[in-house]
Amino acid sequence: MQPFELFAIRYARNGPRKAVQNMIGGDLHEQGSDLDYFVWVAKRSDRVFLIDTGMSEETAKRRREEHYRVPADAIGLLGLDPVRIEDIILTHLHYDHAGTLSRYPNARFHVQESEMSYVTGRCMCSRLLRRGYEADDVLHLVRSLFADRVAFARETCEITNGLTVHRVGGHTGGSQVVRVWTRRGWVVLASDASHLFVNIRRQAPFPSIYRMDEMMEGYRTILALADGSWDHVIPGHDPLVMKMYPAPSRELEGVVVRLDEPPQAGLLP
Ligand SMILES: [Zn+2]
Ligand SMILES: [Zn+2]
Repeated sequence: MQPFELFAIRYARNGPRKAVQNMIGGDLHEQGSDLDYFVWVAKRSDRVFLIDTGMSEETAKRRREEHYRVPADAIGLLGLDPVRIEDIILTHLHYDHAGTLSRYPNARFHVQESEMSYVTGRCMCSRLLRRGYEADDVLHLVRSLFADRVAFARETCEITNGLTVHRVGGHTGGSQVVRVWTRRGWVVLASDASHLFVNIRRQAPFPSIYRMDEMMEGYRTILALADGSWDHVIPGHDPLVMKMYPAPSRELEGVVVRLDEPPQAGLLP
């Protein structure tokens, strides 16, 4: 099986934060980790997948996030043109993962069926559950559905050999993780199924939860998909990712890292 090259592109940041904002049971006064915001690219000679699309500058401003770059432009650093992207996997539809969809007019969006039901159904009557979503992102996806540009996954789905998605739920109704075959083995992009390494390592969830039972089960699923190796789990928002993994080149330091390279040891919390 031909391996994918796998990249994380950092596009925004949120901080400073308290520990209690990052995990249930966290200390009220203790300083917590900042959050980095990423999109991911899995690239092979036959296929390119963009995994999540990040948020627009306007959304970042309104939600007071420190925005570095628009992911649709940043993928140019890897030689990719948003207009030519054919496959986008959305781990879930939160504002920091499914923004700027109109920048990809030729893409098919791969999403869990249960996420689409969740964001268009009665759970969105709850202000708490809908606050992570932008109605315009959801609308764009509904319009894309009517234009034959949405591919639904139901639970586990092989999108191509070497790349599968797995519904874990927990964080939202249909959150999914992505398992990618690389030259160092399977790497699992956990996205918001574990915002930080500390969440999955200590089984202490980030306090943005739809179903706690699925959240805990999701941790087990992610580790199993990573063949039991913490080095093969990539959390969705951890600044440590930028420290552990190497940049593809000097110019891309602090912006892009390669997740198909082995991480620097000894940094895991
Ligand atoms: Zn989320
Ligand atoms: Zn997120």
